[in-house]
Amino acid sequence: MLKDNLINVETTIQTACEKVHRRRSEITLIAVSKTKPVEMLQEVYDAGVRDFGENKVQEICEKYDKLPPDIRWHMIGHLQRNKVKYIIDKVCMIHSVDSYRLAEEINIQAKKRRIVMPVLMEVNIAGEQTKYGVSKEDAILLAQEMSHLDNLHVQGLMAVAPYVEDPEDNRKYFQQIRKLAVDIQRKNIDNIDMHALSIGMTGDYAVAIEEGATMVRVGTGIFGERDYSIRRDI
Ligand SMILES: *Cc1c(COP(=O)(O)O)cnc(C)c1O
Repeated sequence: MLKDNLINVETTIQTACEKVHRRRSEITLIAVSKTKPVEMLQEVYDAGVRDFGENKVQEICEKYDKLPPDIRWHMIGHLQRNKVKYIIDKVCMIHSVDSYRLAEEINIQAKKRRIVMPVLMEVNIAGEQTKYGVSKEDAILLAQEMSHLDNLHVQGLMAVAPYVEDPEDNRKYFQQIRKLAVDIQRKNIDNIDMHALSIGMTGDYAVAIEEGATMVRVGTGIFGERDYSIRRDI
C-alpha cells in the first residue's frame, strides 16, 4: 500500500521533470516520516527510499537505532541549540538553520566530531508569523555571518510554503526563493553554496520541481495522513 503511494509520487516527480526538461536525478525525494512507526519507514526503505525527514530530535534518536544504517536522515524541523549535540552524528543535513546562534552551535558540535555538517538556511518566504525562518532581507546577512564557520557548509535554502488549496498559489514563492538563492550565489561569499533548494511538500511538490526544487519533502503523500492524537510506540 505504501509502495503504491510511492509509485504515485514517483510518477508525479517524473512528470514534473519532463515538463521542464529536468533530469530525475537532479531531485532528491525525502520521505517525511514524522509521527510514523518504524515499521512503515522500513516498508518505504524496502521500496528503495534512503532519504528520510524528521522534525524532532527525540524521534530521530529513537528511530535511528531501529533502522538500517545507510538511511540518510534529514533534520527538517525547528532545532533548539541545546539539542544539536544529540543529532550531529546522525543526520546528513540540517535544513532549518535560521539564526547565527544555532549555526554557531552546529559548528561547535561538528568541530568536536571532526566533521563538516551540510546545512540549509530556512527562509520564511511568505513572511508568515507562525513560521520559522529568516526573512528574505536577513538571509544574505546570515549567509555572510556563517561564512567563517568552518565546520558547517551552507548548501542552499529551505522553505515551508503556505498551506494552500491550489498549488499554483505557491509558484510565486518558489520563484522568489530561487531568485534569492541566485542573488546570494552572485555575492560569492566564502563557504556559501546555493545549489540546493529544499522546497515542495505533498500539496505542491510538482510545482516546486518546475520552479527548481532539488529536494522535495513528502510526508502525507507517502505515509498517509498524520494522527497527532495518538502517541505511537515508535
Ligand atoms: C511535515 C513536514 C513536511 C511534509 O508535509 P506533507 O504535507 O505531509 O508532505 C515537509 N516539510 C516540513 C518542514 C514538515 O514539517
